[in-house]
Amino acid sequence: MNRGVVVTGGARGIGKQICSDFINAGDQVCFIDTDEQKSLDFANEYPGLFYYHGDVADPAVLKSFIEFAMEKLKRIDILVNNACRGNKGILSGLTYEEFDYTLSIGLKAPFELSRLCKNELIKNRGRIINIASSRAFQSEPDTEAYASAKGGIVALTHALAISLGPEVLVNCIAPGWIHVTEQQEFSREDMAAIPAGKVGTPEDISKMVTFLCDQDFITGETITVDGGMNKRMIYHGDWNWQFKPD
Ligand code: NAD
Repeated sequence: MNRGVVVTGGARGIGKQICSDFINAGDQVCFIDTDEQKSLDFANEYPGLFYYHGDVADPAVLKSFIEFAMEKLKRIDILVNNACRGNKGILSGLTYEEFDYTLSIGLKAPFELSRLCKNELIKNRGRIINIASSRAFQSEPDTEAYASAKGGIVALTHALAISLGPEVLVNCIAPGWIHVTEQQEFSREDMAAIPAGKVGTPEDISKMVTFLCDQDFITGETITVDGGMNKRMIYHGDWNWQFKPD
């Protein structure tokens, strides 16, 4: 389709799948990642795929990244804020600085990139797609930094949608458990915990990115893609569900 697409965290996992699917649709893609080797190997696979090395937590890096993206792509139609990483929480002594760093990757970078791409996205009637997590809405213990970044990006999504519409449509995807590691097999119990009967794949998320970029009547929304995991009601003792407190 010849759109200019900017993706964060494109070297592996969900971000890599998103880059590949845009490339295969005929778009040009520029991605940023900290993993230089994996990124160079991936970028060398496609002529229309460009890599910029850097950490999205640094606003100076983001400015240079978007200058690089404009030089390579000549236009920006789609921004996908995908990069994030987990962090420990309050029970294991998460510091202020560690909390702040996770927010810098998962929340401040999406804001700054939206700001830097704003004029291009308005001119091209573009799209912003943010990647949150089902952890924006539910938690395990000791996950404060990641949950806060993900909750923040859900709110950032509707705020940007109201500010940048009608030219730019802004939506968010909240994945559940997505298989991005080398693990090949999952236990019967793991599969049974997910109503759709499987652990998700990067393709499951990328398909939703494509859908949201190709439609024009959804904005400000966060769509959960988790195989229905958050919809199951669990009571100890009902339907064979057991809770075993320490
Ligand atoms: P991943 O770890 O497989 O890949 C993330 C990529 O982002 C890596 O290439 C990494 O090098 C890059 N990256 C991380 N921090 C960066 C930084 N500071 N600057 C630049 N690049 C950076 O992760 P994934 O599972 O593909 O996750 C992608 C997105 O989906 C993340 O936002 C994650 O929170 C979200 N998510 C994933 C799952 C899951 O089960 N995999 C579930 C819910 C949400």
